Amino acid sequence: DLWQGIDFSRSKAEARVDGSTGVKFKDVAGIDEAVEELQELVRYLKNPELFDKMGIKPPHGVLLEGPPGCGKTLVAKAIAGEAGVPFYQMAGSEFVEVLVGVGSARIRDLFKRAKVNKPSVIFIDEIDALATRRQGIFKESTDHLYNAATQERETTLNQLLIELDGFDTGKGVIFLAATNRRDLLDPALLRPGRFDRKIRIRPPNAKGRLEILKIHASKVKMSESVDLSTYAKNLPGWTGAKLAQLVQEAALVAVRQGHGSIIQSDMDDAVDRLTVGPKRVGIELDYQGQCRRAITEVGIAMVSHLLRRYENAEVECCDRISIIPRGQTLSQVVFHRLDDESYMFERRPQLLHRLQVLLGGRAAEEVIYGQDTSRASVGYLADASWLARKIITIWNLENPMVIHGEPPPWRKKERFVGPRLDFEGSLYDDYGLIEPPVNFNLDDQVAQRTEELIQDMYEKTVSLLRQHHAALLKAAKVLLNKKEVSGEEIDYILDSYPPQTHISLLL
Ligand code: ADP
Repeated sequence: DLWQGIDFSRSKAEARVDGSTGVKFKDVAGIDEAVEELQELVRYLKNPELFDKMGIKPPHGVLLEGPPGCGKTLVAKAIAGEAGVPFYQMAGSEFVEVLVGVGSARIRDLFKRAKVNKPSVIFIDEIDALATRRQGIFKESTDHLYNAATQERETTLNQLLIELDGFDTGKGVIFLAATNRRDLLDPALLRPGRFDRKIRIRPPNAKGRLEILKIHASKVKMSESVDLSTYAKNLPGWTGAKLAQLVQEAALVAVRQGHGSIIQSDMDDAVDRLTVGPKRVGIELDYQGQCRRAITEVGIAMVSHLLRRYENAEVECCDRISIIPRGQTLSQVVFHRLDDESYMFERRPQLLHRLQVLLGGRAAEEVIYGQDTSRASVGYLADASWLARKIITIWNLENPMVIHGEPPPWRKKERFVGPRLDFEGSLYDDYGLIEPPVNFNLDDQVAQRTEELIQDMYEKTVSLLRQHHAALLKAAKVLLNKKEVSGEEIDYILDSYPPQTHISLLL
């Protein structure tokens, strides 16, 4: 027998004994509700007999669900770490083998070892890989490998269900699993008695992001002068994993720059690296090209500052402008994010102001070069068109209009239900508000109204920038010389060159 002597059942699971995961709840931030619920498991693991005596049934299994990188593994380790018990971790994919019986043997082995060393924690990451919805009656395919793999997966899943059902005898073992695709899981697994608890691990909000940054900053040398809260605020949607990576990246930059600790410019560089990419050397636009870029980016930044100054606009102000090519971009404007509440219900005036900001690039070109416009601002113009269409259609903020076409499936399904986490592609922001998938007919009427709106806002923007011709030129000149300009410098230039000032300055 070819396989004789080889023990396939030996799971690759690594047991780390006596709290040596080393992770504690203090290492986890931004998911307080989940941590709160999981505390109970720690209490149980520390003293399972007490729970028995009191007649409290321990939770069977706990499913952690949520997008990657938000701390599911981390929090599972923290439970074992806090309770000081062994932690048996395996990935769902490690059970998926073509060889018949290997997966289920590994499951048996994993649970056996955890029970021997109880109290203990079993954690299966990406459980969807092993517990995908079974196909009911097994359908033979002509592909034998496929048949074998499917059958094997189903046997493995059955074994897992058996272990979970027999859990009462294995008191003192907590079974945790994580997935970001709950929709793929076999319903049998989600039945009561298997996963008693389903805990959602969400991406952190601004406050959570700050706490996570603080945790990771404390592990490196971070200068006191770095204002972590600005980064927390300006990086919406960043997960714990991404923020941890940011701090690591900044530390690398600091070392490369010969700085004794991480300073703000290192953090900015790291943000840019992780968003647009590293600086590109050896690619240099000709001077004319750089001028166009500078005018466009300054136009965008300046419109936002002017609208805030003179029209009390609630739009993002510019943090910095750069014409250093990075990754796929030749230049960029980085904005400060507004307070989170401002994004909850954006109002029409605010959105129209933002539309003006996006049109600021082309408007600036027109102010400086007249009809001799270039492609430098097309990206922003595309964004502007998209925003205008959303204002008119999905958000219906101009004169209310009938949107033709089918409502998006999301609308049909969840019309009267509060927003839910949906793993099938709808976007959730920090508040759980979702953006319905865009699905509308761009009929003639919509097209015409979009055009009118853009035209209207564009004219306003051109005339605004014309009044500040001098400041625009000056800021572009500074940007061309220094390659990077901060929002404060833009403000300073606006102070020094009030409206209607004239300067003669050649780019
Ligand atoms: P998941 O299991 O949800 O994919 P992980 O737990 O593997 O995410 O996260 C990867 C790393 O990112 C963690 O080891 C930790 O360094 C960092 N991280 C993620 N979420 C958090 C968090 N909520 N608090 C602190 N650090 C986090």
